[in-house]
Parts: sequence; C-alpha cells; structure tokens
Amino acid sequence: MITVKGKAAFGGIVIGKVKEFSKEKNVVRRTKITDVQAEYTRFEQAREIAIEQLGKLYDKAVKEVGEANAAIFEVHQMMLEDDDYLDSVKNMIETQMVNAEFAVATTGDNFASIFSEMDDDYMKERAADVKDISERVIRVLSGVDESKSLTESEEEAFIIVADDLAPSETIQLDRSKVLAFVTRQGSTNSHTAILARTMNIPALVCTKLDYDVDGRLAVVDGNSGKIILDPDDETIASYEKLLKEEKERKELLLRLKGKKTVTKSGKEIKLYANIGGVKDVGSVLQNDAAGIGLFRSEFLYLQSDTYPTEDEQFAAYKTVAEMMAGKKVIIRTLDIGADKQIDYFDLGKEENPALGYRAVRICLDRPDVFKTQLRALYRASAYGNIAIMIPMIISLWEVQKAKELAEIVKTELKKEGLPYGEVEFGIMIETPAAVMMADELAKEVDFFSIGTNDLTQYTLAIDRQNAKLDMFYDSHHPAVLRMIQMVIDSAHRNGIWAGICGELGADTTLTETFIKMGIDELSVSPAMVLPVRDKVLGTE
Ligand code: PEP
Ligand code: MG
Repeated sequence: MITVKGKAAFGGIVIGKVKEFSKEKNVVRRTKITDVQAEYTRFEQAREIAIEQLGKLYDKAVKEVGEANAAIFEVHQMMLEDDDYLDSVKNMIETQMVNAEFAVATTGDNFASIFSEMDDDYMKERAADVKDISERVIRVLSGVDESKSLTESEEEAFIIVADDLAPSETIQLDRSKVLAFVTRQGSTNSHTAILARTMNIPALVCTKLDYDVDGRLAVVDGNSGKIILDPDDETIASYEKLLKEEKERKELLLRLKGKKTVTKSGKEIKLYANIGGVKDVGSVLQNDAAGIGLFRSEFLYLQSDTYPTEDEQFAAYKTVAEMMAGKKVIIRTLDIGADKQIDYFDLGKEENPALGYRAVRICLDRPDVFKTQLRALYRASAYGNIAIMIPMIISLWEVQKAKELAEIVKTELKKEGLPYGEVEFGIMIETPAAVMMADELAKEVDFFSIGTNDLTQYTLAIDRQNAKLDMFYDSHHPAVLRMIQMVIDSAHRNGIWAGICGELGADTTLTETFIKMGIDELSVSPAMVLPVRDKVLGTE
C-alpha cells in the first residue's frame, strides 16, 4: 500500500481502478517550405477549425457547468484571434520559411514562457491555456481526429491519472466513466480544477506519483488530498464506511436539492454555506446552498509566505463570485490574530491574544493592508454578487472608518476606470459590545451576521481553544441565546437582515428556536446545508 499526497482540487472519495492517460506527444518537426502564402492559408484554415471546435466545447460546457465556467473556451477562442499571437506565427512562416506546425508550436512555447514568468498567479495560469490552443491548432494541422474523448472506448468508470489535463480534455470526459482525476502537475486555481469542481469530480493536482499506476486499485481521498495505491482490506473497509455515509448524504440531496428553504408557514430562510477558499465552492454547489454566507478570507493570507497581492486576492474572489454565478458571496475581511498567527505580519507576542491585536483592529491600524483587500474585493464585485463583512466590531467608529476606506477605494477605482458592482456592506456581531450597540450599528450597515463562536467565547469568558473548560462551555447558554434575539430584533427594527454564520447556526436542535426568533439567514458548513434545510422544511 502506497499513500501519495496531492493538493485537493475537489473533495469526495472514490475507490476504483486507475487508468494512466499519457498524451500522444505531437512531435513537431521543422520543415522548410517554399510557398509562404499556401502555408499561411493552411494555418488560417486550421485556426478556423480550432475556433469552431472551441465553440462546440463552449456549448457543451454551458450545458454541463454553466456559462461562467464555460467562459474559458471563449477565452481560448479569443486567444486564437489575438494579433500578437497571429503576427508571431505569420512572421515565422514568412521570415524563416518554416511549416505552420513549427511556427505555431514555437509561438505557443514563447507565449507560455512569457506568461509563466509573470508575477501574477492569474497570468501564470494563462501559460497552460496558450499551450492548449497551440496544441489544438497543431492537431488540426496534422489531421488528428478531435471528436474522440479520453473516455470514449471505456466500459467501466475509472480514476484518471495524467501529468496534466487541459480544460478541453476535462470537459470532453464522459462524467459517468470518470471516478476521479489525479494530475501530477496543475494547480487548484486552474480552470481544469474549477471544471472538475463544477462537474463534481473528486480531483487531486500536484500529486507526486512517480509509479507505474495503470490498472492498479486505488482510493482517491479528495477530502484530505491523497491517493492510496493498492489499499489493504482495512483501508478499503474504512473508506467504504465513509462512502456509505456519503451515499446517505447524497440521498438526502436527491430529496432536497433544488427545493427552497421555507418553513411550513412560508417564511424563506437564506441558507448559505461557509468556505475557506476557492476549493470549497464545489461542495457549496453540490450541497445546493443559496449562497456563501462566510468566506474566511484570512486563509488566503495563511496559505501564503507573504502578503497576498491585490491581483492574487482579486483572482480568488472573482473565481468564487463567477462560480457562484450571481448568488450572494459574503466575504469576510481579514480576521487574523488570536489562534490565526501569520509570521510575516509580525504580530508579536501578547498576553491575551484573543483580546488582542486582531481582525478589524489590524485592518484599521494598517490601512495599507486593508485597502489592498478592499480594492481586490470591489474589483471582483464586477463579476458577481459580492458582499463585504467586517469581523470583531465593538464600536461605531470602526464601522464608519471601514466604510470611509471603502469609499476611498471606490473613488480610486473609478478614477482608474476599473469597474465594480453593487456591494452589500455588513458586519459580524461577535462581541457583547456589538450586541449592546446593535441599534446604532444597524443604521450604518446592510446586514448583521452573528459569529456565535466568538460571541460565546466573549460572553461566557471561555477561551474557545481550551479543552479543559469543556464542562463549563454551554453552547446553548441562555445569555448567548438572548443576545441572538436582541441582535435579530435590532436588525429588524432598523430594516436590515440578520443571520448566523458561527457553528451554532448548524445546530439543528436550535433551528426551530432561531426561526421563532426571526432569523433571516443561516450560514453553515457545506455538509450541513441539507440537514438544516430538512429541519427548516419541518418547522412551522
Ligand atoms: C465566529 O466567531 O462565530 C465566526 C464565524 O468566525 P471564526 O470562527 O472564524 O472566528
Ligand atoms: Mg469569529
């Protein structure tokens, strides 16, 4: 039994046979031509066929993964219309008198290396795209039959292992014949990974799989990001148990997917999901959440060795907004400090970190860091339905200051001609001070989201990290429940909505209580969306 780690692009577990997919390398030879015009016409014809093929892939993708995710094929079509790209091919054919295949391959390689050296993750990803389109044109030039997909001749479903997969190869897969895919290269932000998520296929990328894997039995665990080759009986049994649980969840899904989350008396609850990053969006869609109620943006910072740039953040927020295709995406601004320490922030040692330099306090003290994030958020808002939410508020001035910085950012973007959309601006209520100030705070914002994890910690004076205090920790403590009621009442008195995004929101023994209190929104982990919907449907 061999376990190999990879990066999970999309969760889920499968057990099955592996099929190694090795691409036939199009070996492109350089040959001398004599008729430049004829060669350029050959290229033009191949380019047109490639654009047509991409149009078909776009239509297929729109049906299977939606317009926003299909857009990559339009981008590929546009790349084949790009003047710089075309000039380079033409120039090589003319000046070097070489065949079209060679001119396309060299241009593709040159452009790919320019993209991959750019200091921007989004642009780096474009290297794979330009290679993909160039290979497509070369295949057309060499007369390769494009209609065959990887899965066409297969009877059974299997786990695909490949060095890498292009978006066009991924979308052509027959979903019913693919259990999972595992690539040795690729990144979790690549379009291939995004497609896998939307197609609901467990996927691992960057997997150091230096073995002969074809035909071997394997378990792909997309939840913890690993592939286990030749699993022993015990491993198979434990994964079969997990699969059974997953099956039960899927049955619930079949029963509840597509249904509105409404009580028997007709009140609709916004049932959203909590995520830590782009890789979780697939399970949000899979579990049919109506939106994202808490995107913990600090994970972008935690996963990085240095401050994530505006462009890096923009790419992540934009991807999530696009994948959610118009559904609400509430992104919480940086919430570090306390249990989430990041070396490069150099926060220093504190006696009481939970009561210390954290979250909005850092953002207001370091407006450079905060403004970078706000710029990325507003820029991404042009691509979907983004809302901004500020954590750890205790005072009115903090909200006013944050809004002031948001206005400055919007003015800057307008001046620079960068578009942004309508953005709801809300705050988390997770300190007793915010609860007591809720009436005043409500006048400044569009919504409240109650962070019951911290609200419980600060109300009960119990460190949420300290396991020794478990016997004192009562998550249903009346003090906390009364505070939740106060917050909902304040919100409604002031014409805004209130939700819960802390763990308590997923406690189905309290769903009925929250509905009676008048809660408008519940944001829970993706796996809890359907159990909570089930509960709401059964409540008066
Ligand atoms: C909370 O405090 O309830 C919350 C949702 O935020 P976090 O758990 O990330 O502090
Ligand atoms: Mg919190």
